Amino acid sequence: MTRKAPAIVILGKGSLATARKIQQLYPDALVHGLAGRVEDVDCSYREFGATLRQLYQQDTPIIALCAAGIVIRTLASELLEKGVEPPVLAVAEDGSAVVPLLGGLGGVNVMAREIAAGLGVAAAITTSGELRFGTCLLNPPSGYALADLELGKRFVSDLLAGETVRIDGEAPWLAQAQLPQSEQAQLAIHVGCDARAVSDNELVIYPRCVMVAITAVSAQLATTVREALASAQIAEPALACLLASESLMADPALHAAAAELGVALRFAVDAKSASALAAQAMPQLLPPQALTENLAIVVSSQPIDPVQIGRARGRLAVIGLGPGAAEFMVPAVKAELARANDILGYETYVRMAGPFRADQVMHCTDNREEMQRARHAFELAAQGRSVVVVSSGDPGVFAMAAAVLEALHESTNPRWHAVDLQMLPGVSASLATAAQAGAPLGHDFCVLSLSDNLKPWSIIEKRLDLACQADLALAFYNPISRSRPWQLGRALEIVRQHRTAQTPVVLGRDIGRPGQTLRVVTLGDLHPEMVDMRTMVLVGSSTTCQFARAHAEPWVYTPRWYPVQD
Ligand code: SAH
Repeated sequence: MTRKAPAIVILGKGSLATARKIQQLYPDALVHGLAGRVEDVDCSYREFGATLRQLYQQDTPIIALCAAGIVIRTLASELLEKGVEPPVLAVAEDGSAVVPLLGGLGGVNVMAREIAAGLGVAAAITTSGELRFGTCLLNPPSGYALADLELGKRFVSDLLAGETVRIDGEAPWLAQAQLPQSEQAQLAIHVGCDARAVSDNELVIYPRCVMVAITAVSAQLATTVREALASAQIAEPALACLLASESLMADPALHAAAAELGVALRFAVDAKSASALAAQAMPQLLPPQALTENLAIVVSSQPIDPVQIGRARGRLAVIGLGPGAAEFMVPAVKAELARANDILGYETYVRMAGPFRADQVMHCTDNREEMQRARHAFELAAQGRSVVVVSSGDPGVFAMAAAVLEALHESTNPRWHAVDLQMLPGVSASLATAAQAGAPLGHDFCVLSLSDNLKPWSIIEKRLDLACQADLALAFYNPISRSRPWQLGRALEIVRQHRTAQTPVVLGRDIGRPGQTLRVVTLGDLHPEMVDMRTMVLVGSSTTCQFARAHAEPWVYTPRWYPVQD
């Protein structure tokens, strides 16, 4: 079974050495440490309970270096609903005990044994079937699927009660198990991909050794595939993947069918028939059974690993990290970062998006090379990789989303256009800053970048003047930089022609990042020296007001209403 990389969670310095030892067994695993108690970990968390529950919900295997009781109590609320159940283990701080707690069907005992072996101790295995037979029959390895879990449990209890068993078909992993085998046995483990009625005295395991090749998408494709398998007397769980022509890569009906069948979708260069497509992707195989011109079934003698067949549809996600702090990053972005093969972006933001696993490739570039970065992202995604382009804040606000679309718009490469392109939003600096100050953008507002790198200064002046005439609150991104020293001063001259000196101005610097500062000043007191390129400038409208807040900068807000004008 391909498992997600586990999370090794520790509470203090005392368990770091054991955590690192376990990490050597799982090089992709990250060590999560409680902020303030232990430095020098791969990620810091603030709240043990919330962190553990989130990992659990994300189906991440958990190795917690603390008392089993703490883990049980923390996850108790999650256990009532029978959803995903990742392996969860408690390991003694000093590495002297390894206790598998949850996720028997997710391979927790296998992990417990691996960790115990690494630490030189015995795992505390309590699962009877596993103790007796040395393997969990109900958790076949990757490439095999159990037909029915409930029947399987009954089967294992019969075996535990002393029945003997015979094995039909190829089950290499069962060779090491200490099963009470006998040719005359009533009970049988049947391994095969044929469709058959499962009887009470057999445990049916399907090898996932079937592939269906498709060169045209019909309505109800999933049903067509099911019918084709049924007519070939093949059990549906034996289906490992769908293989389709590259020209169908972006077809939503095809993706819907693969999702409905719950199998991977792979692609190969277009061929004149489905059998030719299949033969091209798996030349080592017996000739495929062509059911129609556009649909062929391939049955392999071994389980098929979809990753080895053709290639995947590439994915390119342009993500927003939010202003900086991890808790302001949307969950979809976190999930996207976890699945990424490649991460591209300005170095500061790529580092902020990490830490990454050893198998993930970081491509850090200079902040000015946006178009080149966008094209590089498409090249990688078009190879079938999962690529993330990182922006701070929101990717659609003066950031990479538009550059990526510009690169795609200019391209005639069909492979680029077939990439699964997604923009995932983030909390933009103006909104993060506004939230800290109160609600300065609580009414109509205008967002402007004061950078004249990509637009003439005259258009900035014109937009500023009109926005001020319209009495909009203003949010200035890129307010100043070493190469643009005078622009902010000129912009403020324009604003001052329309707004009074008392107009509140919010300055947010490094909001959501270490050392953040928030200042509230008036337009009259605002000087360009108070602002740098890491600052967000929010200028109020005529109705924006402020009032004192205890031990902090005043609250600033723009009311939702507007005075009636005669
Ligand atoms: N896509 C980003 C903006 C990129 S433009 C977003 O949506 O936030 C870069 C400008 O954004 C900076 O010059 C600064 O004005 C502002 N900015 C970005 N992050 C900031 C932060 N954490 N605090 C204050 N301003 C920030």
